[in-house]
Amino acid sequence: MDFEFSPEENAFREEVAEFIREEGAKPGVLNPDVFFSRPVDTPARREFIKALGRKGYLGVSWPAEYGGGGRSGVYDYLLAEELAYQRLSGTGKGIGIIGRTFMLRGTEEQKARFLPLIRNEEIEWAIGYSEPDAGSDLASLRLRATKDGDGWRLNGQKRFTTSAHFADWFFLAARTNFDVPKHKGVSLFVLEMSSPGITISPMMCMDGKRTNEVFLDNVWVPGDQIIGDPGQGFAYISQALDFERSTLFPFGTPQLATEWFLEWVRSGTRNGKPAREDREVIRAVGRLSIMLENVRLFNLRVLATQTAAEATVYSAMYKIVHSEYHHELADVALDLMGPGSWLAHHDKDAPADGVFDMIRRTAVLMTVGAGSSEIQRNIIARRGLGLPNPI
Ligand SMILES: Cc1cc2nc3c(=O)[nH]c(=O)nc-3n(C[C@H](O)[C@H](O)[C@H](O)COP(=O)(O)OP(=O)(O)OC[C@H]3O[C@@H](n4cnc5c(N)ncnc54)[C@H](O)[C@@H]3O)c2cc1C
Repeated sequence: MDFEFSPEENAFREEVAEFIREEGAKPGVLNPDVFFSRPVDTPARREFIKALGRKGYLGVSWPAEYGGGGRSGVYDYLLAEELAYQRLSGTGKGIGIIGRTFMLRGTEEQKARFLPLIRNEEIEWAIGYSEPDAGSDLASLRLRATKDGDGWRLNGQKRFTTSAHFADWFFLAARTNFDVPKHKGVSLFVLEMSSPGITISPMMCMDGKRTNEVFLDNVWVPGDQIIGDPGQGFAYISQALDFERSTLFPFGTPQLATEWFLEWVRSGTRNGKPAREDREVIRAVGRLSIMLENVRLFNLRVLATQTAAEATVYSAMYKIVHSEYHHELADVALDLMGPGSWLAHHDKDAPADGVFDMIRRTAVLMTVGAGSSEIQRNIIARRGLGLPNPI
């Protein structure tokens, strides 16, 4: 069993790391107020992502017939790792989630229209699955799509629609049939965010960042913007969520956060003495190192999955260990650093620049977004271990 990357893969990582160091240092690319991959939302960051595209780093694992690099998923992984480790936004939902859904389910016309735009990051996307009464139980979604001539009319509400306030296009799930079991009546659509009838309102998260509510009032979608077969949307979403759990949670994020903690251990103080000499600090460093290695190994396990069924279960396990590690790290850091650690990020009196206060709050969102930890545990129990559905 070999856990190492090949010489070619390591060379790619070094090349990408160097490129990101240079381009990422340009003004406005890095947002020092944000921890964890957040979507691109400024001209400087959009330009940075496009620069990655011009280098051929976006869609590096897409098949050559769609303009991709035709390389293995390891290369996407290495790019995601470097971006996260250097604290920069990930490559967005288009490359990892929506582009792959088009490749698997789209018509030839849709692929020709959307894949080049996605690969070059010319459009930003928002994903609209969640609704006020449909989060974990996504199949209960009620946003209604009604056939109207050669298109559809959409009416209803989405919630937690991250990026909607600057996205160009919307990738959303709607109910096209209310007369069949709930998993069977859902369809996937894409539509322009500027379509008449769309209203977007902010929802602020506990990390101080914005997500949105989106209201759709008689919004028209042309018939050629439904993806795949009507009524099959729930199966497509389940597959797209597997892409999301493994691409939106890179290992570089906990690795970087742990390095910030170790920096404090090396240079900070606890009870008037160097932190590095404190027994509790030493014990915590040992425990966190084991947990971090566990996160890394699960990430590699996802990378090594061979089948879709395996990917679903290991992505669920990885999402749990990754997101819950941040709870543990932040709790330990805030506890050991003392009361000053609760001062806000960038407060001049806060140890470690108050970064663990921000991580603590972001960690809560990490264990909920893209499916909560409880739902991941249900997936492991049912799909991994074959246990019955308790509901
Ligand atoms: C920062 C952030 C960004 C997000 N971005 C998007 C986005 O861009 N697009 C989008 O569509 N959605 C997005 N979401 C929504 C996210 O997917 C949902 O919040 C998540 O699926 C949980 O749904 P809910 O909030 O409705 O909670 P609920 O489903 O109401 O769950 C409430 C609690 O009950 C628990 N629970 C529910 N059902 C079960 C069960 N069967 N067994 C055990 N426990 C259960 C849950 O784990 C949770 O603790 C985002 C969420 C966050 C926090």
